Amino acid sequence: MKIILLGPPGAGKGTQAKSISSKYDIPHISTGDIFRKNITEKTPLGVEAKRYMDNGQLVPDSLTIDLVKDRLSHEDCKGGFLLDGFPRTVNQAEALKNFLRNNGENIDCALLIDVPRDFILDRMTGRRVCPACGASYHIKFNPPTNEGKCDLCGQDVIQRKDDNEATVNERLEVYENQTQPLIEYYEKENLLKVVQGTKAINEVFESICSILGSIK
Ligand code: ADP
Ligand code: AMP
Repeated sequence: MKIILLGPPGAGKGTQAKSISSKYDIPHISTGDIFRKNITEKTPLGVEAKRYMDNGQLVPDSLTIDLVKDRLSHEDCKGGFLLDGFPRTVNQAEALKNFLRNNGENIDCALLIDVPRDFILDRMTGRRVCPACGASYHIKFNPPTNEGKCDLCGQDVIQRKDDNEATVNERLEVYENQTQPLIEYYEKENLLKVVQGTKAINEVFESICSILGSIK
């Protein structure tokens, strides 16, 4: 199964991705996580990406597209994959389509987690993430079992630098201008499925499973 997760920042893509990836046994590929790993390791890509991420801007397509193509060429993607946070521009979507087409493939589903804008600020300012495995928590809606520690790997969870009110507002603007057009793009491709992301985390997951179960 080759799946794209769409939705505004804070929709719950990363949260649902962990469960989907484990249920369907496909790698969870988050471009945000890849960039953050590069920032931690102070690679040239990380240094460049940080300039954009700290301001809530998109990292340029010229840095992002090749990174994803390279990741999708790894052996573990042969049986499918789950993309979280990519594509974010029509240009990225076209590059992905052409890359897959060259291998005689296409994605199976672009799944939009739909959450209205007024839910987002609370979700993102209360978000805590594990810097080691990328797991996402929320201080009110989904706290870790042991306060401050990742359930999956025991690391201290942290607040992302870009999860402050000003940067979240900028990211929402960027989403509306550059990423939202992908909803229409995938609708035209007949690949769009929509799930309401305002329900509880486990209920959203159930809806996702019933959609994915009806695809293949
Ligand atoms: P995204 O990857 O789309 O940016 P996350 O999965 O990191 O979003 O979720 C953003 C925040 O909202 C996190 O703190 C997460 O715990 C919380 N969250 C995710 N899904 C829900 C939900 N259905 N209800 C309430 N909070 C949620
Ligand atoms: P995320 O972890 O998905 O919330 O992404 C965090 C930040 O990483 C975004 O605000 C962008 O700056 C950058 N980013 C992640 N994915 C992409 C992408 N596909 N294209 C451009 N920038 C990206």
